[in-house]
Amino acid sequence: MATDYFHDIHEECGVFGVYGHPEAANLTYLGLYALQHRGQEGAGICSSDGKNFYLDKSMGLVADIFSEKRLKKLSGHSAIGHNRYSTAGSSSLKNVQPFLVNYILGSIAIAHNGNLINAQYLRHELERAGAIFQSNSDSEVILHLIARSSLDHPVERIKDALSMVKGAFSVLFLEESQLIAVRDPFGVRPLSLGMLDGAYVVASETCAFDLIGANYIRDIQPGEILVINDRGLHSFNLLQSNKKAFCVFEFIYFARPDSLIFEHICVNTVRKSFGRILARDTMPDADLVIPVPDSGVPAAIGFSEKSGMPFDFGLIRNHYIGRTFIEPKHSIRHFGVKIKLNPVKDLLKGKRVVVVDDSIVRGTTSKKIVKMIREVGGAKEVHMRIASPPTIGPCFYGIDTPTRQELIASSHMVEEIRKYITADSLAYLTIDGLKEVLPNPDNYCFACFNNNYPIHFPKEESLQMELILV
Ligand code: AMP
Repeated sequence: MATDYFHDIHEECGVFGVYGHPEAANLTYLGLYALQHRGQEGAGICSSDGKNFYLDKSMGLVADIFSEKRLKKLSGHSAIGHNRYSTAGSSSLKNVQPFLVNYILGSIAIAHNGNLINAQYLRHELERAGAIFQSNSDSEVILHLIARSSLDHPVERIKDALSMVKGAFSVLFLEESQLIAVRDPFGVRPLSLGMLDGAYVVASETCAFDLIGANYIRDIQPGEILVINDRGLHSFNLLQSNKKAFCVFEFIYFARPDSLIFEHICVNTVRKSFGRILARDTMPDADLVIPVPDSGVPAAIGFSEKSGMPFDFGLIRNHYIGRTFIEPKHSIRHFGVKIKLNPVKDLLKGKRVVVVDDSIVRGTTSKKIVKMIREVGGAKEVHMRIASPPTIGPCFYGIDTPTRQELIASSHMVEEIRKYITADSLAYLTIDGLKEVLPNPDNYCFACFNNNYPIHFPKEESLQMELILV
């Protein structure tokens, strides 16, 4: 069914790996802790001492799952870990990674960030040939393809398997004597290499390196297979693509502001620049700029810097609850905004307020916020400014967006959305505005804003995709 398929493909995740360090599992725990924003449904760590593998995974947050006792059992000098995002319909331990399997060449564990767009077809073919799956995650398909490859060497098998899959993958494999990091030829999701005490570490984002004190060396290149073992680093080419498609939404919302992603670019700096352009192009007559915390903070600072309008925290966020977006039922989501945010009445009363957020998806959050700022906060006018263009298309490469029908901007003009959210004015950043900020903008995927999907759906999948796209 299209809906199930849709939910199954929506996995936002974080990965971390270390090779050749006596504290491998502890470092992986810390790395996952720093990457918690990339996935809160479940987490797991798989370690190896060169002979045996040790695996521990659970639903929940990293710090709640791993105790000292549990981490102690994860012996060895190498480890990979994974944070998984919560999505409706597919929330279960069986989907929490890493997955660890045995096959003819030994054992192999996988931790994958991104979504494969032909996984359903490949899975169906594999099942027809007798394969048995334990999860409904597309990452398991990769393991089956590796196990079925007829090539002699593990790296050749990985290359063989990954040349059959299409989509986004920043993926880590752990074998007895090596860690292998691979990034898809388009480089959709980030993946970075660092070093700590002479050992190599790999992470979705560099904020993980900062926590453990590792030095950021470079990105795993799009289309690169990087093998890390006792003899050092060995780089191989997977498949070359003449087009890169770095996900612009990592800059807008997903990555942590203190990370450097996509060729050493600081997320915070980019977000602030988005806010500056937004102010330059859409500045209303108002008294105060406030962010929707946390996602709107850097853009609101940029907006304030450019406009000269004072910045303040007019909404206070309760940090001890999950992101409302992931709650499955409409009614709970409505309730969630109130649980999460509260206006500072003293600051807002009688003011003309500019509210900056990173994005509007369904419009539910903005509607609640505008109402709250006006009715509870006592603001005179509420001007909504969005530091990204209208979201009109779902993501098939690993960002959790709802179906096209649910994206308010896919079927409504800006003025209609303004009316819906009851703001005095509403304006978005343009795609040109995004491109003005990004170095090498041709290297980015803007599909959620322009429906221009850089990784084309294989014929076998296109029917299902059409169902989702309508
Ligand atoms: P909505 O209420 O559906 O319009 O959601 C908009 C809010 O969700 C904004 O405040 C964004 O910061 C946040 N948001 C946007 N994209 C995502 C995502 N992929 N996962 C979680 N939250 C998101």
